[in-house]
Amino acid sequence: MANLDRIIEPAGEIPVVRRADLVVVGGGPAGIAAAVAGARNGLSVALVERYAYLGGLASGGMVLVLDDMCNGEEISVRGLCGEMIDRMERIGLCVVPPESERRSDPALYRKWSRWGVFDFHSHVKPQPICYAAAFDPDGYKRVANAMVGEAKVDLRLHSWFSRAIVEDGRITGVVCETKSGRQAIMGKIVVDASGDLDVAASAGAPFSHGSYIVTTVFRLGGVDTEEAERFEYEQPAAFNAIDREAKKIMAGSWDKWWLKTPLPGIVWCNCPHMAGLDGISVEDLTRADFLGRERIAALVAFVREKLPGFEQAFVVDVAPQIGIRQTRLLDGVYVMSKEDVAQRRHFPDSVARGRDYYYPYRTMLPRDVGQLLVAGRHYSATSSAQRSSREIPPCMAMGEAAGVAAALALDANVGVDRVDVAKLQAKLRAQGADPGDRPASNALVSIAAE
Ligand SMILES: Cc1cc2nc3c(=O)[nH]c(=O)nc-3n(C[C@H](O)[C@H](O)[C@H](O)COP(=O)(O)OP(=O)(O)OC[C@H]3O[C@@H](n4cnc5c(N)ncnc54)[C@H](O)[C@@H]3O)c2cc1C
Repeated sequence: MANLDRIIEPAGEIPVVRRADLVVVGGGPAGIAAAVAGARNGLSVALVERYAYLGGLASGGMVLVLDDMCNGEEISVRGLCGEMIDRMERIGLCVVPPESERRSDPALYRKWSRWGVFDFHSHVKPQPICYAAAFDPDGYKRVANAMVGEAKVDLRLHSWFSRAIVEDGRITGVVCETKSGRQAIMGKIVVDASGDLDVAASAGAPFSHGSYIVTTVFRLGGVDTEEAERFEYEQPAAFNAIDREAKKIMAGSWDKWWLKTPLPGIVWCNCPHMAGLDGISVEDLTRADFLGRERIAALVAFVREKLPGFEQAFVVDVAPQIGIRQTRLLDGVYVMSKEDVAQRRHFPDSVARGRDYYYPYRTMLPRDVGQLLVAGRHYSATSSAQRSSREIPPCMAMGEAAGVAAALALDANVGVDRVDVAKLQAKLRAQGADPGDRPASNALVSIAAE
């Protein structure tokens, strides 16, 4: 009897279009860093991205502040992320507060907080201005293109990963859907940087299914930001009443729902948030687009009428990618817990850092699948741990560690699970990254490796 729920796919042949030392799936922050690091360390690298541009949520999701890079005492994320910031600054598409202005001070808070460059985890009031970067999404794409191009990465845009090729328990390649049909790309090592764990899940690695709020980020143009800030600080009661109403219309936003960008008169809005949607469900993703746009239209009508500085505001764009923070999470060799993050637990095999927490190499290693590394927001963590350890800079740091680890594994002719972590840490440090091998003074230091 015919099965009404399923069809049987006919078997067929798929052309192999590329063989590389390293195949990276996902051209977001983690994937860019993994590909560039791998190539700079001598590997031939293929980078596969489903969309027409690099950057993932940083560009297509229009998440326009790089944060979680300092622990109150020192800068904790450097390396390729720092290079990207410097390069975007040089082309005028990134704003970073100068070192002399990074502290808690009411005047500095007024000057900088609408750039989103303050430490929002701090309990000090006003929250200190810190090392963080407000950037332009096209700037991120341009610099990513330049870095990938200079490193001679074989970038394959418009290629949608669909299936992992696994032989004898190890991944040997990936299949992509493209306009020219299915294509196979074979690699000695694969990095899953899809953000949704598409590759590891397809390869049979254990994972958990997390979820968190979903956001349709958008940008407004025609905003008189000076007037808006003057109103906020000089008429706080009137401002608060209007701001409260705006937030009600969005039915989900952070305290500062609009932030400045390097482009004059253009602000980005990290809202509206929507709960209860699954970031890998076609139906929910479609619903998020409709729901988000409805709320945005209502908000714009309201602020044009009521909010000083926003009288001429118009929608520049709604981010082409829905803001998905969390879906599948790797259930890897070590699973990061909320306590690990909150207590700033240091691990002897730390290979990347966020604000004040550390990522052990084991959180990038799947169980059961060889030659596969996982880097980015789907790393091995519980849902609650991931919520506070998934910002763009640490995802880039994880990607960078994965790229260098792949080079070390191939050089030593060992599996990625047998990489000499001390060598990996030393190499990352020599290349300008901070692997977190030296715990900061506020870290909780483990007695022994586990
Ligand atoms: C609304 C929102 C606000 C946020 N705010 C901030 C913030 O202010 N600051 C901050 O630093 N971080 C913020 N974050 C978190 C941050 O954006 C993400 O955690 C980070 O971008 C994760 O990087 P990634 O490379 O792991 O994944 P992603 O950015 O998701 O990149 C994954 C890439 O893989 C590609 N891909 C996925 N599936 C496939 C496939 N099947 N085939 C081929 N390619 C595929 C995607 O197109 C994408 O390019 C925010 C996130 C959201 C959603």
